[in-house]
Amino acid sequence: MAIATETQQQEKKASEASADVQKRWTLSDFDIGKPLGRGKFGHVYLAREKRSNHIVALKVLFKSQLQQSQVEHQLRREVEIQSHLRHPNILRLYGYFYDQKRVYLILEYAARGELYKELQRCKHFSERRAATYVASLARALIYCHGKHVIHRDIKPENLLIGAEGELKIADFGWSVHTFNRRRTMCGTLDYLPPEMVESVEHDASVDIWSLGVLCYEFLYGIPPFEAREHSDTYRRIVQVDLKFPPKPVISQTAKDLISQMLVRDYSQRLPLHKVLQHPWIVQNAEPSGIYRG
Ligand code: ATP
Ligand code: MG
Repeated sequence: MAIATETQQQEKKASEASADVQKRWTLSDFDIGKPLGRGKFGHVYLAREKRSNHIVALKVLFKSQLQQSQVEHQLRREVEIQSHLRHPNILRLYGYFYDQKRVYLILEYAARGELYKELQRCKHFSERRAATYVASLARALIYCHGKHVIHRDIKPENLLIGAEGELKIADFGWSVHTFNRRRTMCGTLDYLPPEMVESVEHDASVDIWSLGVLCYEFLYGIPPFEAREHSDTYRRIVQVDLKFPPKPVISQTAKDLISQMLVRDYSQRLPLHKVLQHPWIVQNAEPSGIYRG
């Protein structure tokens, strides 16, 4: 796997820097605890790093399964992107290591688990709770977009909750790094047409749409374009067939915000910094960014 090559390069660099040799993790550095869940390619365990006593989540992926599904490239991108992001609402990826059969990701532990399960349990969230989560997501996405990272897969299954109740975006498997470094560094931007110069904002606006869908789902308990048939969902999305059911009763300001994010023309979607200034967020979101119930 190319992960190996990247690490070998890192190791080479680290040993060249002789003074501060980069830490190489192995399984023996961790005490393994209870299973936290299972994903498509392996399992996630609670773990403790022996020397620091630091609690983490260790995600164990089988190389054979990754290869079979041809997702090594995706995993490499996920690791590359997520390990460089530092934000209170983005799950940290501290590092990774591997042995012959498995790849291990060392992740921040999100003590209160999946947001998805909370939503199922509560059916739908209060406006306070929904607004607090939407504001946290908007801040995390502003941070990502500032680094030219687009998540592209914002949904309840990919959101975890930390010990204090803070929301954490996980799963960067579908994310992309839009601005090719070479392009910015060589200054060849001068020759690019508008649609390519604008491609960052263009692509980033997919996350605004997803945030609109999520905001709706938090409040109503179901996503806005849900239908029995896949083809009907498709039609409802392209037509932006947005309807607000009478129950639960939701404020007009919430509906206004959702309507401004779920706009077909991506250039007309409410920018994320304006989402944070929207009256519904200002009036409802916990200023601490933490929902305590
Ligand atoms: P899938 O693609 O099927 O969602 P996956 O490979 O992305 O699977 P994850 O969703 O990352 O796997 O992990 C599986 C489950 O383990 C999660 O649904 C969650 O319940 C739990 N889990 C994963 N990471 C953490 C974490 N950092 N802290 C707490 N629980 C976690
Ligand atoms: Mg997942």
